[in-house]
Amino acid sequence: MYQSETEMMVQGIDVEKVRNDFPLLTRTVYGKPLVYFDNAATSQKPTAVLDALEDYYRLYNSNVHRGVHSLSQEATEAYEGARKKVATFINAKKAEEIIFTRGTTESINLVAASFAKKFLKEGDVVLISAMEHHSNIVPWQMVCAEKGATLQVIAMNEFGELLMDDFARKLTCNVKIVSVTYVSNSLGTINPVGEIIRQAHEKNIPVLVDAAQAVVHLPIDVQALDADFLAFSGHKIYGPTGLGILYGKEEWLNALPPYQGGGEMIKTVSFEKTTYNELPYKFEAGTPDVAGAIGLGAAIDYVEQLGRDNVFSAEDELLAYAMRALQAVKGLRIVGPLSNRVGSISFLLENFHPFDVGEILDKQGIAVRTGHHCTQPVMDFFNIPGTVRASLAFYNTKAEIDKLVAGLEKARMLLG
Ligand code: PLP
Repeated sequence: MYQSETEMMVQGIDVEKVRNDFPLLTRTVYGKPLVYFDNAATSQKPTAVLDALEDYYRLYNSNVHRGVHSLSQEATEAYEGARKKVATFINAKKAEEIIFTRGTTESINLVAASFAKKFLKEGDVVLISAMEHHSNIVPWQMVCAEKGATLQVIAMNEFGELLMDDFARKLTCNVKIVSVTYVSNSLGTINPVGEIIRQAHEKNIPVLVDAAQAVVHLPIDVQALDADFLAFSGHKIYGPTGLGILYGKEEWLNALPPYQGGGEMIKTVSFEKTTYNELPYKFEAGTPDVAGAIGLGAAIDYVEQLGRDNVFSAEDELLAYAMRALQAVKGLRIVGPLSNRVGSISFLLENFHPFDVGEILDKQGIAVRTGHHCTQPVMDFFNIPGTVRASLAFYNTKAEIDKLVAGLEKARMLLG
């Protein structure tokens, strides 16, 4: 069994201190201190985010953009302030290129529906990858079926890495858009999206990047990437649920028709004709999740205060420790790459069903995810029912990884 190394300071992060920022981490499950390794599904929230949500509802709850009164102006300022923080965080040229949505899923649905309405026709191709989350498969399937277009898939190898020669082969002039994940949620793979975008742009094909996992573990610079669209969810990056981001280049967002109709997205309405609002409001019909946006802004502030580099290097150190520890567990097989990856670690233990392993871990207070992780085609590719996935955050500790290893030894004893 692995012994914890000193972990007072993991790469510039004082782990014990930052853990105090996350009230939920102090709770117990089945009488044991919680070990939370389901961060890829959703992360825990720091007090700074909880306070920002409460302050909004307690002190200046009001609808945005519509009132001359002070509360509405305060709420609008905070909401638009959050948009600016997101823009700076991912280095968008303008805050108007940031659309608030419900999450990655809605962001992708928005692009798929609006893009297809205007640009997709019979015989066209939408190119995705073999490791997409269902939310980057199904919306495209739906619009392809509607338009008579075809969905094609970039293949991967048995290490869960995309085959770039297959990508180059499939990038024909029939492809109208490429939509790929930056980081696989079920395999942990970091995909070469910069190169994918470069090759697609050589043929004038736009690219949507699903950054739901990437935004937590990698620096995102939409201008350096030259991404046309990029989507992520606030709840994975320590913000509240129900609030997501769609980044789109201004020229693309202007070219797309609105996704939903209603208040806020209009300039003028008569029974004969409606004219649409400018960006970003054209894509924000109805009362938005004001609290959610403010909460995400607070989460970004929190990460920036810790220092993104500090957070990422703390995660890298934990990942290296976890990979070593897990690979030393007898009968454990990692599903996914061994390098060029993030700390969402999928594995199988002997031939035990992932669900049984997950249940035994839960009884020890260890929260992992089991199943297909919304990537059924990935499980089909590996011919497995699912995996156990331990996904790390910077607030996890090496001692917790030791507990996971001990928990897996116990599972083997009980199931074997
Ligand atoms: N894409 C990836 C890679 C994900 O990991 C997830 C969620 O796990 C999603 C999309 C969907 O995110 P949400 O459910 O927040 O819309």
